[in-house]
Amino acid sequence: MIIVMKAGASKAQIDTVVTQIRTLGCQAHLSQGTERTIIGVIGDERQLNPDSFQMMEGVEKTLRVLSRFKLASRDFHPEDTLVKFNGVTVGSKDIVVMAGPCAVESREQMHEVGWALKEIGIKVLRGGAYKPRTSPYSFQGLGRDGLEILAEVREETGLAVVTEVMDPKDVEMVSEHVDVLQVGARNMQNYALLHAVGELGRPVLLKRGMMSTIEELLMSAEYILSHDNNQVMICERGIRTFETYTRNTLDINAVPALKQLSHLPVIVDPSHGTGRWELVSPISKAALAAGADGLILEVHPHPAQALSDGAQSLKPETLDKLMRELKPLSQALGRDLL
Ligand code: PEP
Ligand code: MN
Repeated sequence: MIIVMKAGASKAQIDTVVTQIRTLGCQAHLSQGTERTIIGVIGDERQLNPDSFQMMEGVEKTLRVLSRFKLASRDFHPEDTLVKFNGVTVGSKDIVVMAGPCAVESREQMHEVGWALKEIGIKVLRGGAYKPRTSPYSFQGLGRDGLEILAEVREETGLAVVTEVMDPKDVEMVSEHVDVLQVGARNMQNYALLHAVGELGRPVLLKRGMMSTIEELLMSAEYILSHDNNQVMICERGIRTFETYTRNTLDINAVPALKQLSHLPVIVDPSHGTGRWELVSPISKAALAAGADGLILEVHPHPAQALSDGAQSLKPETLDKLMRELKPLSQALGRDLL
């Protein structure tokens, strides 16, 4: 259930409603809009009588939320949520492009790509230090050394950094080196990890599992939000279908669907969504046209030598060309390319 307070309801009236919710054994999550406060009630709602809340002072109305995700739904939070880190705001009018190699491979590689991206005007660098590889014999990432390289490049270039965390035990340590924690597709339903990143309260990029529905994706976001961490970006990165020409099938439908269902920013990953660098530019444009708030793109200075995902990586010069094309497109869509 959600309780919509009247515009101008006093703090005392809001506190009284919250106390009543807690007395009945449920949790209250507040969404403070520009005009009014909405209170999300989480827990065993059978104890709650909407009519009794309806009569409390300052309450405008009560609504049953029919979807299984509550805090992630637009009913609870009608306005777009803004995710902020290191001078970047995602979910506003600005379209944010995050770019970088699949994996951190060496100090030289990250410095080269970091400065090249900075030159192009990119504000957010991606790069995996812990890589979830299908084969245990494939390159697994540089781990802690990789994080230190990311922190160094972040410091030198001023770029914000996003990197994947795979183990709940590493969440705090990883967050000391970067701005945004990525929960990868393979870990979308790793509930211990979702709790850990939720508790930490830092920005999260939550990627859609390759066999997960839109509802399951939003339920995973709900885990993070249930810790009162609303700094969550959801990422469409393609799902498994019968098609084998592309690595995954980017579910373009998910973009407007997620924007309608949820207040969280939506990021699209055309690199994993296609698996082919030649398709990345057209699909990036489709993603923006569908309403994405940003893109995450794999870029490698020497894709042929990449230790992972070279085939889907753009060269910096191709990204530069794409960014020039995205600028007028963003403007036509009423947005600004950051
Ligand atoms: C990645 O971003 O490099 C990655 C492994 O992505 P996903 O979890 O979407 O496969
Ligand atoms: Mn990758």
